[in-house]
Amino acid sequence: MTERLYYSDSYTRKFAARVRERAALPDRHAVILDRTFFYPASGGQPSDLGMLNGVAVEEAVVRESDKAVLHFLARPLDTDSVEGEIDWPRRFDFMQQHTGQHILSQAFIRSAEALTVGFHLGAETTTIDLDTEKIAPSAIERAEQIANEAVAANYPVRAWFPTADELSRLTLRKTPDVDGPLRVVAIGEFDFNACGGTHVAHTAEVGPIKILKTEKQKKGARIEFVCGARAVSDYARKHAIVNQLANEFTCGQSEVIDSVARLRGETQSLRKELRAARDELLDYESARLSEAAAARNGLKVVRGVWPDRDLSELRGLANRLAASPGVVALLGSSGEKANVVFARAADSDRDMNALFQSAIGSLEGGRGGGSPSVAQGGGARATKEQIEAVLSQAERELLNH
Ligand SMILES: [Zn+2]
Repeated sequence: MTERLYYSDSYTRKFAARVRERAALPDRHAVILDRTFFYPASGGQPSDLGMLNGVAVEEAVVRESDKAVLHFLARPLDTDSVEGEIDWPRRFDFMQQHTGQHILSQAFIRSAEALTVGFHLGAETTTIDLDTEKIAPSAIERAEQIANEAVAANYPVRAWFPTADELSRLTLRKTPDVDGPLRVVAIGEFDFNACGGTHVAHTAEVGPIKILKTEKQKKGARIEFVCGARAVSDYARKHAIVNQLANEFTCGQSEVIDSVARLRGETQSLRKELRAARDELLDYESARLSEAAAARNGLKVVRGVWPDRDLSELRGLANRLAASPGVVALLGSSGEKANVVFARAADSDRDMNALFQSAIGSLEGGRGGGSPSVAQGGGARATKEQIEAVLSQAERELLNH
């Protein structure tokens, strides 16, 4: 078994140890030491990283069979006496997030009687899973406030293995099912919980605790939060965004939301106005096209091709044209995306879908369809001439019918 030095001291970064065993694994080198400060991945907290004799420790894990700590290495070690060094910024960050988690879990008991049933310390944020589905926004706010008050109170954090007698007098947040002695972490008189992780020595070291998100789970709620340096950089990032928005709107930071609402309102009414103006233009355009078209074989065929005109606008124009008796509209647009719409007046019996299907095949990637009265679709990039060819083929078919 490896002596886990971080149990009694989570601040030592450099240590000497001896290699007890070199684990023979097919594609990885691993060593077991007589003692270690490396925290192995467990209980929702990722493993420490660092160096052993200058060789990178890529991961530390517990070997289930005997609870020894396996240090996975980038390459083999050639001596048995090693100098270890913990990646301190990473470890201290984890200590902040993890201790923050203890505090926040206790805060949710106090604000919402919600018990923590899950914990995950991620690279960006940390989450706890609560056993309560509905937590009022005011209770979440209250929990954050209680947690930050516990930080400001600068409670001492103590981790130890109590005797059975001592343990019976402690009220733990949650009693886990573990074999052997139970390690207890006490945060002043604020919180007592069983835990094998690494923590700061005083709560002020946790720094600010900020809840970012609450998500409903199947049987509870997931709370996402950041502590310490993560909270400070999250604040800096968000401050920069709000600042930039305030500059864009030339307003104060507190007025940004009103400015966005105003802008949205304006956009909505402009869209409405634009739609009305476009409709009016289409009315004029269809009247002009209809007047210019001559009747042949009892049909008034209106043909037209425009560059880069979108399908809904072509469709709007075709519908207007087909509102007049005897009219068949054959419309298209060229460009990056080809669009084609065929529509006919209600007094005609010509099948627009059949006409469309026989014409669209000549366009690259051409497809679409519709009903006997209107059919539409398109294809890949097409020139004006290619669209013209599709429309004139359809017109020939119509008139020769
Ligand atoms: Zn802990």
